[in-house]
Amino acid sequence: MRIAIGIDLGGTELRAAAIDETAQVLRHARLPTAAEAGPIAIVEQIARLVDNVSSGLDPTGIGIGSPGPLDAATGTVIHAPMLHGWRDVPLVQLVTDRTGLPTFLENDANAAALAEWRFGAAQGLRHMVYVTVSTGIGGGIVIDGRLLHGHRSLAGEIGHMTVTENPIPCACGGFGCWESLASGSALGRRAREAGLQADGPMTARVVAERAAAGDETARRLMAEEARYLGIGFANLLHLYAPEMIVVGGGVSAALPQMAEEIARTVSVRAMPAYADVPIRAAGLGTQAGVIGAALLALPG
Ligand SMILES: [Zn+2]
Repeated sequence: MRIAIGIDLGGTELRAAAIDETAQVLRHARLPTAAEAGPIAIVEQIARLVDNVSSGLDPTGIGIGSPGPLDAATGTVIHAPMLHGWRDVPLVQLVTDRTGLPTFLENDANAAALAEWRFGAAQGLRHMVYVTVSTGIGGGIVIDGRLLHGHRSLAGEIGHMTVTENPIPCACGGFGCWESLASGSALGRRAREAGLQADGPMTARVVAERAAAGDETARRLMAEEARYLGIGFANLLHLYAPEMIVVGGGVSAALPQMAEEIARTVSVRAMPAYADVPIRAAGLGTQAGVIGAALLALPG
């Protein structure tokens, strides 16, 4: 059976795993990302992790899921805001030179979408949209049985759909993006503004826990979060006609709590023809990114 190495390059953590053709994780390892040290230091970290997880396994290649924007076709990371000094980095070339293995690159959300489509919640479907809701909102779109890339691989930046005229600043430099309204960070911000207290940082998880425990303010905030998510989901249904929307990322843990309000919002805002499209939690959890990355080197 063929084996490939998946690398999930995050701003804080670098994960690696050896995966077989059935998406079984055979071995995995992780390191704190040397985010301040520049591209060459991170290529060294990647090489070390590849050595670590592949000893004795003879992998056919390496797939890397990286934050974008990036050009998957040329293997170049155009810009990675949370990694110091990353502008036009020929990552595929650098990793191939260092490891001697064929290497492939994809946007991290696209890689996770690929994993959920081939082995996760949307297995067997031809049309699906994957949405990751955590600090930000990202996505990957599979239509007609293939991943949508678009010009410079920029398709699927669904977090930056404008959903409100309200000028809430977004990390992208724009205003009123879905991410600025419905991400975990946005929920945390609204919770602080509403006077909700936490021992540590105010996160989406804290708000969800308070709501589950019956706190009225937290319940109101979660209902609001569900409506904001529902607005974006309704847009995605109209744009892509998926058979399923799959939701990953930290905030997806609260999906059962929000399901009713999300369904209500979608039923009001989406045309009746989309009414029966399921919105499901991701099936592969936090492993989706690294599994999807490895699948880049294991074409089905
Ligand atoms: Zn934005």
